Amino acid sequence: MTAPSAGGQRTRQPRPKAPARRDMPPIDRKARLRIPPHHVTKQLPAERVHNWDEVYYGYTPEPAMFEAQRCIQCPAEPCVAACPIGNDIPGALAQLELGRIAPAAAIFRATSEMPELCGRLCPQEQLCEGHCVVGKNAKPVAIGKLEAFVADWDRRQRGGFPVPAPSHASGGRVAVVGSGPAGLAVAEQMRRAGHDATVFEVWPSAGGVLRYGIPNFKSAKSIVDEKIESLREAGVEFRTGVRVGRDVSWDALRAFDAVFLAHGAGAGRRLRLPGEELMHVSSATDFLVRANLPPEDLPAGQREKPYVGRHVVVVGGGDTSMDCVRSAVRLGAEHVTLLYRRSENEMAGRVEERRHAREEGVHFEYLTTPVRLLGRDGAVRAVECVRMELGEPDESGRRRPSPIEGSNFVIDADAVVVAVGYSVDPELLGPESGVVVDDWGQIVVDPAGRTSQPGVFAGGDNVNGADLVVTALASAHQAVPAMLDYVAERIAERTPAAG
Ligand code: SF4
Repeated sequence: MTAPSAGGQRTRQPRPKAPARRDMPPIDRKARLRIPPHHVTKQLPAERVHNWDEVYYGYTPEPAMFEAQRCIQCPAEPCVAACPIGNDIPGALAQLELGRIAPAAAIFRATSEMPELCGRLCPQEQLCEGHCVVGKNAKPVAIGKLEAFVADWDRRQRGGFPVPAPSHASGGRVAVVGSGPAGLAVAEQMRRAGHDATVFEVWPSAGGVLRYGIPNFKSAKSIVDEKIESLREAGVEFRTGVRVGRDVSWDALRAFDAVFLAHGAGAGRRLRLPGEELMHVSSATDFLVRANLPPEDLPAGQREKPYVGRHVVVVGGGDTSMDCVRSAVRLGAEHVTLLYRRSENEMAGRVEERRHAREEGVHFEYLTTPVRLLGRDGAVRAVECVRMELGEPDESGRRRPSPIEGSNFVIDADAVVVAVGYSVDPELLGPESGVVVDDWGQIVVDPAGRTSQPGVFAGGDNVNGADLVVTALASAHQAVPAMLDYVAERIAERTPAAG
């Protein structure tokens, strides 16, 4: 899950010691294994396709406490080892089962700047829940939804995220480029240490992929708004609609004591097929931002809702393609088809997302790939496809698809969305940065997040390629200690020695 970055191995920062669990009654593990799962409620498909609200209603305190009791507090803590940021899950659940929701939230917040978002967005079946010992013979403990519940409850009690107010002004100044999860995490940690933090964001509003990449039915934008507000309150400055190299020069960035590059990997890959230039063929990013965001959060020229007509075809096999098909359903398309060139077994995204898409009426065409887009009067009207068969595994370990000769067929399409992956947008860095990137445009860093330029650090998707919110946080956490040291040295250099 946590692949080595372009420049170094990923290592986890040591997590704070787990709080004592001495107040817990003695654990009867066998009895706990008999506790049935307490499921979280969600909107019915027929209802949710007509709104953009979150699918899950989330836990309420009592069922959450029962579900937390299903944790058998196993000493090996495989769930913690599988969490990229090392959340003390058993520690938090031990508090929750006793009804101590605020202390449970504090435990998650000790290692995560945004547990409410990770709880919603992590592919838990591959991470914490996928390693839960209870899950060997039953449904794993619903760690993600419990994490989201305690963090939501805590936020509601406080009236927002805890404000990371610094205890002193250090005199240090840090620039952060990009306001997605990695950028926000670094801005928060720098501010906590007393440094001034300025965040530069190219989109009109702050939040990066949290605002512009994730549909409302997976996580409400109000959570991102609250996060940004808490950082503003703590003194973080956000400069939005600003592109590095165009609106702020690299010389201006170098005037800061340190820079953290977290501009993500938001450039959609293309199919490179005939007809891709036709009207109503869009990238996943363009489709999702226009579908999910109000005009005031979008640049001029991107403010109209995307056209879907009756038939929408989405090409891709990851979670972004599920976001696109489900957005197309909510925009009113009558027939939404997903084309994926391998079988469901090879799909990279979450099973839950596919289940939700199917429940919402999306049709899946596996082992199918487009070969050209057909148009009429300049607009797309159909997709010519070919069936595929799977051969030996390729370098990714998945079986390589190859076309079956003569199997071509045509699907109607009033709109086509291309969701075949993301890369780093090279323009967001610019050649004058001097920062070394690899062949894919990803920034090369050492294990402490240092780039080739002194004082310039990087983390998140622009280092690792498009990945998860939680892996972006892990990458930011990796860079924070070296950044703090670097800024402290810069401050010391300009502070006259006493005596
Ligand atoms: Fe699980 Fe993700 Fe939360 Fe870690 S951050 S405990 S992996 S849901």
